[in-house]
Amino acid sequence: MEDIYCFAGNPLDRVSERRRDREWIAALLADPTSRILPLYDLKPAVRDMEAPVLEWQSLAAWREPIAAGATCIFLGIAEGGIAHFALDATGAASGSNAIAENVDVRTLAPLVPSGEAAILAEARSLIDWHARHGFCAQCGTRTNVSSAGWTRRCPNCRASHYPRSDPVTIMLVVRGERALLGRNKRRPGRRFSCLAGFMEPGMKLSVEFVDGRAVNVLFPDILELKIADTAPPVHQQQDSTLKAARLENGVEIMVPQFVKTGDVIRLDPQTMKYVERVKADAKARHA
Ligand SMILES: [Zn+2]
Repeated sequence: MEDIYCFAGNPLDRVSERRRDREWIAALLADPTSRILPLYDLKPAVRDMEAPVLEWQSLAAWREPIAAGATCIFLGIAEGGIAHFALDATGAASGSNAIAENVDVRTLAPLVPSGEAAILAEARSLIDWHARHGFCAQCGTRTNVSSAGWTRRCPNCRASHYPRSDPVTIMLVVRGERALLGRNKRRPGRRFSCLAGFMEPGMKLSVEFVDGRAVNVLFPDILELKIADTAPPVHQQQDSTLKAARLENGVEIMVPQFVKTGDVIRLDPQTMKYVERVKADAKARHA
């Protein structure tokens, strides 16, 4: 399978070694060929929803909010030497947004030309990070944007704070013409997606195989499931005495005596062993 994931393939050279060169960044900001993408509430400006195109704009319209401290990020240099910036334009009155719509990045990503989605991911995740990390984690002082939008610096304790990235695994399992997909029941309609999960430092993962093919990465997570059926509690019994229970997914496990039908419990998916009760069923509690 040769398809490139839509958020991959960023065509910009991020020139990370020159982000701290304030004179160079200032010259790029003053260059009339430089382009900027305003995002409003993390949604970029877009023209023509039939065949969406990102609304890259001239920097001239945005000088005022940039000077006033709006988060402005140097994204990189495109082929041909044109500098690209992103701006958190939330609440800004400037700019030319009259012909544009603002569209959620996840909706837009599969629709825009290859490479633009990757630039969008870069712009959105950085602006989102700045919006959520305004204060120093060491001393609580309000921090300032530095390194052309790639760092926040604390004016009090001089700590530097760097954008957080969340490592995940995303996998598409294919066999011939068929693919194994998941469906999150919170999503509307018949929307399916690849299997995915967040990773944490030091995490031990194991891979599940079916017919010799990896179909899932197992996370040492805790599952929450409802008890579909179990015998009523026997009060004379010690709570350490276990009894059989059937979960909503049909799996049978052993649970303590006090667990009732309708309760939500946590279990370790690796061992399928009961860990704790999350909440007792409301009806059972009020019976
Ligand atoms: Zn600080």
